[in-house]
Amino acid sequence: MAVQIRKQPKKYDVCIVGSGAGGGMAAKLLADAGFKIALLEAGPDFDPANSEQRTQLRWPWESPRRGASTTRPFGDFDMAYGGWELEGEPYTQNRNTEFDWFRSRMLGGRTNHWGRISLRFGPLDFKRKDFDGKGDNWPIGYEDVKPYYDKIDKLIGVFGSKENIPNEPDGYFLPPPKPRLHELYIKKGANKAGVPMIPSRLSILTKPVNKKRGACFFCSQCSRSCMAYADFSSSSVLVKPAMETGNVDLYVNAMVREVLTNGEGEVTGVSYINKEDLKDYELKAKVVILAASACSSARLLLNSKSAQHPNGLANSSGVVGKYLHDSTGSSRGGFIPDLVDRERYNEDGVGGMHLYTPC
Ligand SMILES: Cc1cc2nc3c(=O)[nH]c(=O)nc-3n(C[C@H](O)[C@H](O)[C@H](O)COP(=O)(O)OP(=O)(O)OC[C@H]3O[C@@H](n4cnc5c(N)ncnc54)[C@H](O)[C@@H]3O)c2cc1C
Repeated sequence: MAVQIRKQPKKYDVCIVGSGAGGGMAAKLLADAGFKIALLEAGPDFDPANSEQRTQLRWPWESPRRGASTTRPFGDFDMAYGGWELEGEPYTQNRNTEFDWFRSRMLGGRTNHWGRISLRFGPLDFKRKDFDGKGDNWPIGYEDVKPYYDKIDKLIGVFGSKENIPNEPDGYFLPPPKPRLHELYIKKGANKAGVPMIPSRLSILTKPVNKKRGACFFCSQCSRSCMAYADFSSSSVLVKPAMETGNVDLYVNAMVREVLTNGEGEVTGVSYINKEDLKDYELKAKVVILAASACSSARLLLNSKSAQHPNGLANSSGVVGKYLHDSTGSSRGGFIPDLVDRERYNEDGVGGMHLYTPC
């Protein structure tokens, strides 16, 4: 059956695919610079302050899954439309390998739920090969990136403390929250063992940075996305202000499947499926920015095959989609007798740790 393709009439300067950390930032900066932008997001619109979408400060019995036998990995009210599994979007793993892929389909992508740990790469991280022979040096160094880190700190708001640790560069920090009892306890032990512990660096507002975003009120529920906009989420801190410029048309539930090119192999726009009417659309733009997350952006490049780009777009090297690296995590639990039967006091805080150990 021939598929009828609907062409969006407007031609944009830039089409951005994905509205998470990368797409939101591109939309904000380019919209401020006056470019006309189409922002395409595979998930629905989202605003944590919208009473129908809000999960922050909900009681357990308000869960739509109350009484159901299933639980979600980060809790019932976690603000990720998705997670380790995404209904209707399965992926496969290479034989005998394990790869857990966390995806969030909504305006703002994974930034509605992420940990808000906002650390900088240090000078040594850019020149690892020189330092310990591992990997390769980056072609740029910390000094090249520092001005942008500084701008971002001021734009999104990050708390922390100036420590002058060479490979843990300081930024422009809001005051950090005080350590909680268990953190003071661990710090005491760490100090004894010679392990440094310093205030965390998280993009959560301990003081307002503008009139549109409130300060944290210590409910500890950042992973539900904040109705006061006190945490950094791309949806509320980047996409919303970008749209207020009047330069951004937002297409939600728009699943891009291919970057389109002309006979010369130059980019002309994208094709996408509207998940509401399940029809095919095409959208024209002079520039296309893929910010659909590392793996999905690679998938889109590989999907975009043509006579000029037989291995997919930007893949003359053949390495697109290979050598991907994810962040890893581990945890350890313990029983601390000293903390048993202690006096109770208010231990609320931000939705994350107040202290950490730099390395
Ligand atoms: C549990 C968890 C905790 C984390 N904590 C931290 C932390 O504390 N500090 C830190 O630095 N990082 C953290 N991260 C990582 C961080 O969230 C990601 O690195 C960051 O969000 C990546 O941004 P992105 O724009 O590339 O992708 P995303 O934020 O995932 O955004 C991609 C967007 O593209 C959309 N999209 C995908 N495919 C298509 C398509 N075909 N068409 C249209 N739209 C599409 C998606 O729906 C999504 O909205 C965490 C991640 C997870 C999962």
